[in-house]
Amino acid sequence: MESPAIHRPPKKPAMTKPTSQQHSHQAKKRFGQNFLVDGNIINRIIGAIKPLAGEHLVEIGPGLGALTRHLVDKNCQLDVVEIDRDLAQKLELQYADTPHFKLHQMDALKADFGALASAERSLRVIGNLPYNISTPLLFHLLTFKACIHDMHFMLQKEVVDRLASPEGKKTYGRLSVMVQYHCHIEPLFVVPPSAFKPAPKVESAIVRLRPRSRTTTVTDPKFFAQMVNVCFQQRRKTIRNGLKLILKELPEDCLADIDLGRRPETFSVEEFIAMANQLSALR
Ligand code: SAM
Repeated sequence: MESPAIHRPPKKPAMTKPTSQQHSHQAKKRFGQNFLVDGNIINRIIGAIKPLAGEHLVEIGPGLGALTRHLVDKNCQLDVVEIDRDLAQKLELQYADTPHFKLHQMDALKADFGALASAERSLRVIGNLPYNISTPLLFHLLTFKACIHDMHFMLQKEVVDRLASPEGKKTYGRLSVMVQYHCHIEPLFVVPPSAFKPAPKVESAIVRLRPRSRTTTVTDPKFFAQMVNVCFQQRRKTIRNGLKLILKELPEDCLADIDLGRRPETFSVEEFIAMANQLSALR
């Protein structure tokens, strides 16, 4: 069968005048490329990270090096993970003679961050993250939390609001519970679209995440993740409805201290932990 003709719209002219760095690079949408060009914002981000000599930093998505160039002269160990081959080649050339600099041309979602860390030095992970993969990337990084000291990320402001949300708010959901279970979350400041080229359509924000240890941990992490996920898929219904989707029979008498008529968004992270531990013990 003859395939239908593919309609290719005419190429749009560039929206913004390229900076000197960008002359030779056309931003790729599929890699979420919005490059930071505002010097004040870049300085504020570096000021928030406060990289110190001897630390081990990992930058995800260095791009054209807006943050990287401020990190290389801090005498840190710096590993950068960039998926775009063209950008990786440029960085490799630019920093060929830089000591303690290592480029990994690969997908950060597949990177083994644990292999980078050493027993003596945990990692400080940073990045102006590609927005299209920020949530899976956060979950991937959390699997390495034992070897991460902290993380500083630029994300969509809406994602930062959800990460940091207390229970009871519209922004509170699966992302809030799962990431707050693992980390302390500190939203730092908002970044307007004008700080990037090309400018994204939405506001961004810088957030600091510090892996935490908890007095009460989940006994079955897989069940916890599944339970939180299912409950928030039914966020307008009671927690009873959500739990019924993962448990054949809901042992209500064993959950007498939990009001199953409440909506999932009213449960604190601690309450989710306690509920998951009670239920997984009964399975
Ligand atoms: N750090 C630069 C800056 O602030 O100007 C670039 C930030 S841009 C928002 C995101 C960067 O992440 C791009 O360089 C893009 O190529 C890279 N990237 C996208 N997906 C990636 C992935 N899966 N793994 C590693 N890098 C990725």
